[in-house]
Amino acid sequence: MKTFPIVILGGGVVAGYAAKEFVAQSGKPGDLAIVGAENALPYDRPPLSKGFLAGKEQASDIQISDAAFYRKYGIAVYRNFPVRKVDFRRRRLQNASGNVIGFDRLLIATGSTVRRLQVPGANRSEVFYLRQMKDSQAIQAQMKRGRRAVVIGSGFIGMEVASVLASHGVRTTMVFPDDRVWKRLFTPPVSAFFERQFTGHGITFIKSDTVVALTHKNHGCQVVLASGNRVPTDFVVAGIGVSPTVELFQRSALDSSDGIKVNEFLETSVPEVWAAGDIANYPDQVFHRRKRVEHWDNAVEQGRVAMRNMMGHFQPFIHVPYFFSDVFDLSYEFWGDADGHDQVVYRGNMKQKQLSVWWLKKQTLCAALIMSRPEEERVVAPRWILRRPHLDPKALQNTRNLKSLDITFGRQN
Ligand SMILES: Cc1cc2nc3c(=O)[nH]c(=O)nc-3n(C[C@H](O)[C@H](O)[C@H](O)COP(=O)(O)OP(=O)(O)OC[C@H]3O[C@@H](n4cnc5c(N)ncnc54)[C@H](O)[C@@H]3O)c2cc1C
Repeated sequence: MKTFPIVILGGGVVAGYAAKEFVAQSGKPGDLAIVGAENALPYDRPPLSKGFLAGKEQASDIQISDAAFYRKYGIAVYRNFPVRKVDFRRRRLQNASGNVIGFDRLLIATGSTVRRLQVPGANRSEVFYLRQMKDSQAIQAQMKRGRRAVVIGSGFIGMEVASVLASHGVRTTMVFPDDRVWKRLFTPPVSAFFERQFTGHGITFIKSDTVVALTHKNHGCQVVLASGNRVPTDFVVAGIGVSPTVELFQRSALDSSDGIKVNEFLETSVPEVWAAGDIANYPDQVFHRRKRVEHWDNAVEQGRVAMRNMMGHFQPFIHVPYFFSDVFDLSYEFWGDADGHDQVVYRGNMKQKQLSVWWLKKQTLCAALIMSRPEEERVVAPRWILRRPHLDPKALQNTRNLKSLDITFGRQN
C-alpha cells in the first residue's frame, strides 16, 4: 500500500487548485496524491455548459494543469479510482477492486451529484444530465443529431444549456415549476429581462408546470406535463439541481447531514481531515451562518485555504460568495447572499443590456448582480458586502461615481 502525507479525495475543481497551492507553498515531490473517479486530470467544470459544450474549447483547454505539471512537481494523480470505503481509523481509502491508498492528512472534495428525474420513463436514453466532461460531450453529440430539445429547470445550468442549444439551431423549450426564470435568485424585473433575451432567441417557456412522465411516440420522445400537455422532443436535458456527494461518509464519524460540516479552518470533526468545495458545510464569516456553496470560485478559494492549512498554516476561510454565468452574449456576476434583504436598487439600462442589482439589508449591501457595468461596480460590490458601509439607497441609485459613496459614508479602511 502506498501512503501519502496529503491525499485529496475527489479529482475536481478543488483538487486542481489545491494542487497548484501545494506547489506555490513549496510542497515536496511525493507528498501529495489526488484520487478521483473520473478518467481525467482535474478540469474546470463551468465551460461544460458554455464554451466546451458549444465546441469552442477542447478537453486540454479546460484542464486546470496539464500532465507535465503533475509530473514535474511529483504529484500522483489516481484516475478511475472511485473510492468505495474511507477508513479514518486506519487512514486509508479503498476502491471497489480492493486497491488501497493510505493518507496522513485527507482533504475531502467529492463535490456534488446531479439530481435525477424521478418519473416514469426517466431512464430513457434521450434524457441527459450535466456534471462531467463526458456528459457535456454526450449532449454535444446529441445536439448535432436532434432538432428539438426540452430543458428542465431554470437555474444556471438550465439557462446556460438552453442558450447553447438555441445558438446551435436546436428548437428549445424550457419547462420549470416557477412562474419566472431563476426565481430563487433573480428579482421579477431581472427574470423578465432574461426571459425577453431567451424568447428573442427562439426559446419557448413552459412555466408553472412539472414533468410527470416521458413516453415514446412515433419514434420520438414526449415529455408529459402535470398540466396534461405533451411536448414532443428529440432529447431532454434535466438541470434540476445537485446534492452533496456524501454517501461514503453517512455511517462515519463525520456530520454529513447537509454536506460535511467543517469549522472556519475547513477542518472536519475528525483530526487531520479537511473538506472543501461543494461538499463543505462551513461557518460563513461574512454572513454569520452556515453555508454550502456550489460554485467554482468557492471551490477554488476553499481548495487553496484548505491546502495551506494542511501544510501548517492556520488561516480561516473568509470570503464573499461569488459566481458567474454566461448566456448568449450576456455575462453576469453575483456576489453575496440576498436572503433577508429589505430593499433592492437598480442601476444601468436594461434595454442596453447593462444592469446591476443591489440588495440591501438595513441599508447595508448583502448581494449584488452585475452585468456589463463599469469596472468600479465590480470592485465595490464584494468590498461593501464584506465591510458593510451604511448606504443611502437613493445615492446608490443615482450617483455616477460609486467610489464617492465610500468617502460619503466614511466607513471604509
Ligand atoms: C456544467 C457545470 C457548469 C458550471 N458553471 C458554473 C459557473 O458558470 N459558475 C460557477 O461559479 N460555478 C459553476 N459550476 C459549479 C462548479 O463547477 C462547482 O461548484 C465546482 O466544480 C465544485 O468543485 P468540487 O471540487 O467541490 O467538486 P467537483 O468539481 O464536482 O469535483 C468532485 C470530484 O470528486 C469525484 N468523486 C466523487 N466521489 C468520488 C469517490 N467516491 N471517489 C473518487 N472520486 C470521487 C467526482 O468524480 C469529481 O471528479 C458549474 C458546474 C457544472 C457541472
